[in-house]
Amino acid sequence: MRIETKCLHSGYSPKNTEPRVVPIVQSTTYVFDSTEAIGEVFDDPTKALIYSRFANPTVMAVEAKIADLEGGAAAMCTSSGQAASLLSLLNILKNGDSFISTTHIYGGTVNLFAFTLKKMGIECIFVSPDASEDEIIAAFKPRTKAVFGETLANPQLTVLDIEKFAKAAHKKGVPLIIDNTFATPVLCRPIEHGADIVIHSTSKYMDGHALQVGGVIVDSGTFDWTNGNFPDFTEPDESYHGTVYTKTYGKLAYILKARMQLMRDFGTYPSAHSAFLLNLGLETLSLRMKQYCENGKAVAEFFAASDKIESVTYPGLKTDRNHAMAQKYLSGAGGIITINIKGGKANAVKFMDSLKLASNEVHVCDIRTCVLHPASATHRQLTSEQLKAAGISDSQIRFSVGLENVEDILDDIKQALDKIQ
Ligand SMILES: *Cc1c(COP(=O)(O)O)cnc(C)c1O
Repeated sequence: MRIETKCLHSGYSPKNTEPRVVPIVQSTTYVFDSTEAIGEVFDDPTKALIYSRFANPTVMAVEAKIADLEGGAAAMCTSSGQAASLLSLLNILKNGDSFISTTHIYGGTVNLFAFTLKKMGIECIFVSPDASEDEIIAAFKPRTKAVFGETLANPQLTVLDIEKFAKAAHKKGVPLIIDNTFATPVLCRPIEHGADIVIHSTSKYMDGHALQVGGVIVDSGTFDWTNGNFPDFTEPDESYHGTVYTKTYGKLAYILKARMQLMRDFGTYPSAHSAFLLNLGLETLSLRMKQYCENGKAVAEFFAASDKIESVTYPGLKTDRNHAMAQKYLSGAGGIITINIKGGKANAVKFMDSLKLASNEVHVCDIRTCVLHPASATHRQLTSEQLKAAGISDSQIRFSVGLENVEDILDDIKQALDKIQ
């Protein structure tokens, strides 16, 4: 199936007389014929459902759909994108370990990596997305166990050279984790470029309608966890009656370990109703992404031609520093545009507050056009040094183009730009 068809059909194929639409199984628990039957499922959790903190049929349909969209072996949904980033790493790392991440990542992820994981004894080694393969390899420490990056960075819109990072990670025998939130599997499938694990904040384009916060972790199923670097995968797990994940679950070792160990203990599983709404978003994802790309390009071109705008970042523009990388990795640049307005923060704020159609909100990739000032919102907790490393300035606005008629979006921008000097 092609991606448009997968958006509609993957993950759920009703049989004779079953509901056409994936049902909402709003139940915390499942019944068994006997005590022994329950015991057997605890021995092998792939046999049946136990409890909706581990798995739920509605959520599982969405997991199967997203795994298929990304070309992965399996997926696990989480209650937020943050939980997806956290669990994707905790499934590999423990106290004393480290991992490498590029500096061009979502602000919330920076906080998690630089502060919270550090408190847990896990060190993040930051490298520039422009680092060469040799520089990435040189950043490794003896206990560096993973590499992390974002396909299309929020908000810098840097397009990551996924193949370069995958090569460096694989030379050192560790997996590459890619946050593919802004690109979605419609515009980029990182696994095809060497990524081993893909995560998303499904709160963004995947849901698309600003209905529910969520996340997902997709496993390619191809990373070799038996290469000697990952004893937690190859030695008995004493917290799960001695299971050896690679032995029992083979290609599904990573996701099963995440589910039976981390989801069991941290409990960040989404509700069936949230998954149902996410599925509705996914059904139109490919259609919406095409329109986001079209509207995004038109708005970026308008900004690029305006004398009130200092600079425009949009990888879909031929003049953009990321254009070549976008040509290689993306089949469209999406609807997010970063602009630097002339006249600093005062003009940025004036412009944003003058918009009538576009709303000021802490969100991005919504179906409605919205704007945000990263330095005073999503990246507010960052130090000025971190802001600089992340390429964020006071005059910067993150413009998230929606699916309104693009002429209406442009009219709104024009009247707001007219209000500034
Ligand atoms: C929003 C976002 C996150 C965090 O996701 P939540 O669903 O808000 O927890 C992670 N990565 C990227 C790229 C994001 O845009």
